[in-house]
Amino acid sequence: MSSSGINGDITVAAIFGDPVAQSKSPAMHNAAYAALGMNRTYAAFRVTSGNVGAALRSIPALGLVGVNLTIPHKEAATRLIKDLSGAARLLGAVNCVVNRRGALRGDNTDARGLERDLRDLGCELRDQFAIVIGAGGGAAAAVLACVRLGANRIVIANRTPARAASLARRFSAKGVTRVAVGEPRGLDALIDAEFLGNARLIVNATSMGLTTERFARLDYDATPQDCLFYDLIYSPAPTAFLKPALVANRRAIDGVGMLVNQGELAFKLFNRVDAPKGVMRAALLTSLGRNADLG
Ligand code: NAP
Repeated sequence: MSSSGINGDITVAAIFGDPVAQSKSPAMHNAAYAALGMNRTYAAFRVTSGNVGAALRSIPALGLVGVNLTIPHKEAATRLIKDLSGAARLLGAVNCVVNRRGALRGDNTDARGLERDLRDLGCELRDQFAIVIGAGGGAAAAVLACVRLGANRIVIANRTPARAASLARRFSAKGVTRVAVGEPRGLDALIDAEFLGNARLIVNATSMGLTTERFARLDYDATPQDCLFYDLIYSPAPTAFLKPALVANRRAIDGVGMLVNQGELAFKLFNRVDAPKGVMRAALLTSLGRNADLG
């Protein structure tokens, strides 16, 4: 049964957000349903902040198998859902709500999505130094992914250094002291050749390049030749963060793989079956108008 054929006993998963029309999740999940011949569909609902509580309560009432959350609901959901995974609690954000026989569980698959993508890319972080640029939800997920991959030093650099410090404190308060999530810096760190000289991974977890034309000044040539530049942003063409990395002959990867991996993890949580390999990625690349990965 194709997911495009809506019938009386179809099962529904969804995404709640505002705005939500730009979301690539319906294309990815529906491609997986179609490939598996499941009588399921994935819908996008524009849910305003004022309605998110009612929308979450409707999940068991409507029998939705699960719901992804996007802007602006991820943080609010941590206060509205009682049963939270460790990752959702640590990150202070829920991107995935699973309906477990009428009881809601809030999870966060962003960090695991990035972790899986970095593993797939062969990015070896054990005992290595990683820099995360940004201090919002995406940055928190990136820090957790680096922790899980065994980095021994992670520095958060952000336009507002106080927010970098507060994110670093959140990790230490939750007992993540095995690694030095600390030494928060401003964006001036990105032109500090000594600081950059040992970086194995530099993640952009800001909206620079999405909301601005250019990225901050960064001394790409000061990074080791095998430094991986990873942008959480995904777009039809190389981003403002990645373009100079490619010019400097460094490996540059955008956030397609993270989005696909968090989607595959959510698919498994919602449907208890794996998404067929490659299907969600192909659907995402098609919806971006791309026919190949960048890296
Ligand atoms: P967020 O919570 O709003 O944080 C935005 C970050 O960007 C903050 O650190 C902010 O710095 C910084 N920033 C914004 N404009 C800036 C500018 N003009 N100059 C310098 N810094 C600026 O956003 P988020 O949810 O973490 O998302 C960040 C990015 O990651 C977004 O582009 C999002 O699409 C992407 N993302 C991708 C995935 C994926 O699956 N690929 C998953 C999650 C997020 P201040 O603290 O100084 O304001």
